Amino acid sequence: MCGAQREREERPLRVGIFGGTFDPIHLGHLLIAEQVMDEMRLSEVIFVPSGIPPHKAASSVRASAEDRYRMVLAAVEGNPRFSVDRVEVEAGRAMHTVETVPLLKERHEGDEWFFITGADEVSNLLTWREPDRLLEQVVMVAATRPGYDLSKLDHLEKELRNFDRIFPVECSRLDISATNIRRRVLQGKSIRYMVPDGVYRFITRKKLYSGELHPETTGTE
Ligand code: ATP
Repeated sequence: MCGAQREREERPLRVGIFGGTFDPIHLGHLLIAEQVMDEMRLSEVIFVPSGIPPHKAASSVRASAEDRYRMVLAAVEGNPRFSVDRVEVEAGRAMHTVETVPLLKERHEGDEWFFITGADEVSNLLTWREPDRLLEQVVMVAATRPGYDLSKLDHLEKELRNFDRIFPVECSRLDISATNIRRRVLQGKSIRYMVPDGVYRFITRKKLYSGELHPETTGTE
């Protein structure tokens, strides 16, 4: 038996899933994925760009699902523990995380599953589809910024049976958002060093976020 195989048999494989619109993916996303991987002792993180995000107005999604997927692919290049799954991009409809996770479990090897989100997003968990069932499928990792007030998650405790499956992890968060990046491009400002170089080149080459809405981004939930 080779060493890796033995290690695999002895230790449960802990896999992180990071879902998002990634319009575009930026260094804030990559930083929390990397730090959560350390803190939660994950062996890998699978990025799952949404096709049609269920929680966002269709008109607010600027780049096509394919372009957002390709940017995530460019962003994870060079990190052997990061990968990208196209399941939601190919779905052709809005998919909820509670539907996506079982598909990912079929497509990837893993024993324990974790879903990575920003803590602000977790505080909206009651608006997600079947949050308690989702918490049976995954441990929800809420990436907080230093000094984040955890009492913002308190209201979930009363509502969720599986509240104890939400796990805050403090990350050195960067104050970057995709909204801010899109706005800067529109204003002709630089986004260099807010996104990985490959993503920067992709946005520049394809002239993304310069004003035109991609025709694919017209779906509704
Ligand atoms: P937008 O500004 O368009 O709403 P976003 O930058 O928040 O986009 P998403 O793709 O919607 O990016 O985010 C995916 C996940 O990453 C969410 O759970 C969000 O909370 C988290 N996230 C986004 N930006 C950061 C950041 N700078 N630090 C930590 N978490 C972040």
